[in-house]
Amino acid sequence: MLKVQGIDVSYRDIQVLWDVSFEVNEGELVVLLGANGSGKTTTLNAISGLLPVKKGTIEFLGQDITKLPGYKVAELGIIHVPEGRRLFPEMTVRENLEMGSLFPEAKAKRKETMKKVFELFPVLEERQNQEAGTLSGGQQQMLALGRGLMALPKLLIMDEPSLGLAPVLVKQIFEKVKDINGQGVTVLLVEQNVVQSLNLCHRAYVLENGRVILQGSGKELLEDPHVKEAYLGM
Ligand code: ATP
Repeated sequence: MLKVQGIDVSYRDIQVLWDVSFEVNEGELVVLLGANGSGKTTTLNAISGLLPVKKGTIEFLGQDITKLPGYKVAELGIIHVPEGRRLFPEMTVRENLEMGSLFPEAKAKRKETMKKVFELFPVLEERQNQEAGTLSGGQQQMLALGRGLMALPKLLIMDEPSLGLAPVLVKQIFEKVKDINGQGVTVLLVEQNVVQSLNLCHRAYVLENGRVILQGSGKELLEDPHVKEAYLGM
């Protein structure tokens, strides 16, 4: 479904991604792991058309999207839930959700999609008239995911959905991500919670200093000596 082939990405003169290649197949939940600064967010932004790619290609459903601007990439069905959530704090929960479904197809199905989002996140239904900025951190993260779903994503890209949350909420968010994938949405997830995300995913890639250095199933990587030493402190 998504094929990233040998991409290089730079900020001005400073190259941060080197020959990065990976794939996400339809229906999969794939995780990108890596330490702070390894290039995970940069990779997601390159896919979403928010950063220019210097070399290499990105294909989605057989179409070359390497040079497409962000709104075109989103229109094709790649929906990016960014780190830090970027909600509209003074708009209500419901209004934030509506903002997720601006493309015609999503807009036409707005009502039924919102019903599904409320089934997945009952707290959003309870708080639909509350200003988003007054929600707790975990609720805001759920709203960000819900808003992403309102766009009817073919591929949902999530950047550290568990960032800054207490352990019990991290667990909840991971369960929701699993449910979303179980409902047929393909997911590409960036995470720092190594054990939980490897347990959850079908496959994962490890980025170090802007390069893919390892790949495998979640189980394989949990048993990999380098992953154990570098990410699990074993
Ligand atoms: P984190 O988990 O801390 O978010 P990350 O793996 O997502 O890290 P990136 O945010 O992709 O890493 O950053 C990769 C490298 O690119 C880092 O060295 C970072 O300092 C650099 N970088 C990121 N954004 C910019 C920018 N706008 N201008 C210059 N350098 C940047």
